[in-house]
Amino acid sequence: MSPVAQEGPAPGQAAHGVPGANGVRIRKDSVPFAVEPNWRPGAAAASAFSWQAVRERLAGLPGGGLNIGFEALDRPVREGRGAHVALHWLGAEGGEQRITYDELRRLANRFANAVARLGLQRGDRLFVLAPRRPELYAAILGALKAGVVVSPLFSAFGPEPIATRMNLGQGRALVTTGGLFARKVAPVLAKIPSLAHVLLIDDGSTAPDAAAGSGPALHDLRALLAAASDAFDCVPTRADEMALLHFTSGTTGRPKGAVHVHEAVLTHYATGFYALDLHPDDIFWCTADPGWVTGMSYGVIAPLLHGVTLVVDEAEFDPERWYRILTEREVSVWYTAPTAIRMLMKAGEDLARRFARPKLRFVASVGEPLNPEAVWWGLRALGLPIHDNWWQTETGGIMVANAPAFDIQPGSMGRPLPGIEAAVVERLADGGVRVIEEPGVQGELALASGWPSMFRGYLNEEERYRKCFAGRWYLSGDMVRRDAEGCFWFVGRADDVIKSAGHLIGPFEVESALMEHPAVVEAGVIGKPDALLGETVKAFVALRPGREANEALLRDLMAHARKRLGAAVAPKEITVVPALPHTRSGKIMRRLLKARELGLPEGDTSTMEGSA
Ligand code: ATP
Ligand code: MG
Repeated sequence: MSPVAQEGPAPGQAAHGVPGANGVRIRKDSVPFAVEPNWRPGAAAASAFSWQAVRERLAGLPGGGLNIGFEALDRPVREGRGAHVALHWLGAEGGEQRITYDELRRLANRFANAVARLGLQRGDRLFVLAPRRPELYAAILGALKAGVVVSPLFSAFGPEPIATRMNLGQGRALVTTGGLFARKVAPVLAKIPSLAHVLLIDDGSTAPDAAAGSGPALHDLRALLAAASDAFDCVPTRADEMALLHFTSGTTGRPKGAVHVHEAVLTHYATGFYALDLHPDDIFWCTADPGWVTGMSYGVIAPLLHGVTLVVDEAEFDPERWYRILTEREVSVWYTAPTAIRMLMKAGEDLARRFARPKLRFVASVGEPLNPEAVWWGLRALGLPIHDNWWQTETGGIMVANAPAFDIQPGSMGRPLPGIEAAVVERLADGGVRVIEEPGVQGELALASGWPSMFRGYLNEEERYRKCFAGRWYLSGDMVRRDAEGCFWFVGRADDVIKSAGHLIGPFEVESALMEHPAVVEAGVIGKPDALLGETVKAFVALRPGREANEALLRDLMAHARKRLGAAVAPKEITVVPALPHTRSGKIMRRLLKARELGLPEGDTSTMEGSA
């Protein structure tokens, strides 16, 4: 059962996260760990950390180059992991496949040769829009080895978002399936004049006819791979050469194209070690799709760098299927997201308890604030707390984390990883910043620039990129507090923070308090303009199945919120909704709740769940 000593509230009475609040924490000092954690509090190994040492742990290329694909496949094979399973693929229709490191390396080499034969050059952009199939993984890694820039798209995107991104990124080639091509790309081909080659993964649909006239050439990927050699000399990419183009989630507005370079592999390696605690025998499952940065950095690259087995599930979320995978595939380290955890909470603790998970030893989450209630739920339902960590598309990898050997204060995102300097800052009128040294004071989360996976630009938005920096600091746009222990607590995105009667109110605090109520499964909080107060707090809540929205419940919710938060911070209005709007990556879209509430234009909704 639970490998942690617990010192906290009883189930259902979890105190939410106020820094240093009532000392509620999940203690780790007396925990027997299944494997020795890679990072212990105060350990010499971490204080002696240097990026140079991480670089030396990697292979590199002759002449000083660096390549993510080479480090993820060739290096593990050279180090003796060739026969170890790299991908354990689970098909949506029930099939499964185990692919070793050496097999995946050869497949990626075939892909690299195939795109080289098609005339793709170093620096050209290849987009991927595909289900989680083995070919997708070979394509990503093969393209990287060929020096071709990879830009992933989420396969649930509709035609317009695909065209916009491919056009912005000047996509020269696309890997997709026949079905996705016919439905989502063919209708907008005229908007993507840069596209020269489409490589089709066989999905059983009839191969689309080559577009008439000047359209891209259509190729059968299987035939291309079969005709290509499985030996390939990695293109000698430089460390600062563009490797990946990632579009942000579009939670706050139009998605931005973040440029990442091969050197990011240092962060992927270090964070896989310190934040995800990967050990050679691990079976690791990252539930994010490679269409998002989490699914690329941790659903492809980091686990391969550590030579572990990566579980890939082609199917979509389903509570029972997920519990089965954790149990039957013997997952030991699991990386998922608050939205998935909230859906599992909705499915009930009993379902979770029907499955044993003797191998599972570490669970982490990213992408949104993780409500303390979800951390405690993990402890009750899974027998393990959930470890929140923080990063963004722009940071390329995990920056702040709750690692296995450190106490958890539920509601806190944890501490900066070795090699990462984080601070709370205040923006000044002259464009500079002031670092806030006092603990507990709210400000913007800033990172000292220069970590290897730092984005190197927003594509075609030079000015916007420049504005993210003040002196040596990168400004994240997220508001936080730091406590006396050095742990960071999320308050809200700068755009979402509510100013009411002189108070600054973070939506996360209010949402977390509402989620403690047994009827609530999800909450989204916004500021509503008010002539007197500036803004008032308005909450939208979704209820657990079987709970009915009525006057009595709303009164009870209001009373609970006032008791927990005080009258100044508690919502003035609570509306029950069937579901909250989410991005396709699962984030609550507060800006949309607000636009709808105020009757304003909805703005860019291309990444919204359910959008075309
Ligand atoms: P856009 O920038 O297009 O509006 P986005 O910021 O949601 O979209 P991502 O880069 O995917 O795009 O998400 C990063 C953001 O997600 C962070 O800046 C933060 O606001 C939020 N986030 C990620 N992890 C956490 C976490 N552990 N706690 C709180 N917020 C988090
Ligand atoms: Mg963002």
